[in-house]
Amino acid sequence: MQLAEKIENICKEVELFIQYGVQEQEQQEALELLIKYSNDLLVLQVMKAFYSSLPESREEAISRIAVIEKKEDIFLLTLSTASHNYLYLATEQKAVLLGQYGQEIMEPDMLALFGYPDAKVFFSKYPDPERCQEYESMRDAGSNFCPVCSTAVGEYHLLGCSVEVCPWCEGQFSRCGCRFEQLGLEVLEDEEELEELERILQAKGRIAYAPEQCPSYPSATDEQDGH
Ligand SMILES: [Zn+2]
Ligand SMILES: [Zn+2]
Repeated sequence: MQLAEKIENICKEVELFIQYGVQEQEQQEALELLIKYSNDLLVLQVMKAFYSSLPESREEAISRIAVIEKKEDIFLLTLSTASHNYLYLATEQKAVLLGQYGQEIMEPDMLALFGYPDAKVFFSKYPDPERCQEYESMRDAGSNFCPVCSTAVGEYHLLGCSVEVCPWCEGQFSRCGCRFEQLGLEVLEDEEELEELERILQAKGRIAYAPEQCPSYPSATDEQDGH
């Protein structure tokens, strides 16, 4: 399924969940936030996870989504309503509710992923979700994160990301033939070859993500695809 189509479908689903699940006086707020993030698959996954299983018959709208931490393409987010705060783990594929802020965490080992041995250590570092920075749509903030693999500025793309620039020919690394040429192979088949590729990439001087690699970066090209 095309990304645009996927985003459109999930948007419609979230809209339905809002119409059926959120109390009337908060529907407008819920829909406004949906529109704000209607281009962002990751937030849409979080919204879908939240609205499709509104906790304990609460019918609240999401008022704010903020970033606590990020590791590769996984975001640790806090989601706020008028009277509650929740903790979510999200990628563009899926969002998982970890628990309510300050309370028991359902899957504490998820926090270990971010270097926290348990929920107590985590909440002592982040006692107040209001102080976490509001999540900006990755597409709007194309300068901060790679739009494809979500790596941050100055960090390496996930291997295989279509935005990565080839250090040998300065073309699109996922498209040019340099990797085969450099490895002396016809095809890349196993883990070992991928590791070798990563090694020679580093040795050559791998090109980290910079905003101008992003196709929607204003100065890169005037081409617009209408999204
Ligand atoms: Zn990338
Ligand atoms: Zn190349």
